[in-house]
Amino acid sequence: MVSDPELKYLHRCVELATEALEDGDEPFGSVLVGPEGTVLAEDRNRVAGGDHTRHPEFELARWSAAHLSPAERAAATVYTSGEHCPMCAAAHAWVGLGRIVYVSSSAQLTEWLAEWGVPAPPVRPLPVNEVAPGVVVEGPVPGLAAQVRELQRRFHGRA
Ligand SMILES: [Zn+2]
Repeated sequence: MVSDPELKYLHRCVELATEALEDGDEPFGSVLVGPEGTVLAEDRNRVAGGDHTRHPEFELARWSAAHLSPAERAAATVYTSGEHCPMCAAAHAWVGLGRIVYVSSSAQLTEWLAEWGVPAPPVRPLPVNEVAPGVVVEGPVPGLAAQVRELQRRFHGRA
């Protein structure tokens, strides 16, 4: 269950995704939050330079490995505009981060891309728990997911 106070982090994720889109990157944004509700780090997609591993969830996993103890990582939550891809889900689990809350699911994104005739990505869009079965995952969030869909539609230039 996504609580009201948590919605503000998800709104921030959508804001970061919008920022990414406006900068020519894929519209994805993520926020890492500590157990007391403190925002520890945030990032957005940065693949426009050609490195397609520059996903925000991957950056946050590596940031947490560098800056947080294992206990702090386990107590932290990653909020994100779109469910982690398998690469990011693996990184999240390898560094021992806690819960994931996403606005829209990989299944939704797959559906949207198919609807718009966008070719499938090179990595299969598995749900987080197929990759990292021990991670607590929540989402999608219906109202906000429509905003994420709109950002994706704009990115792919679809009417
Ligand atoms: Zn990813």
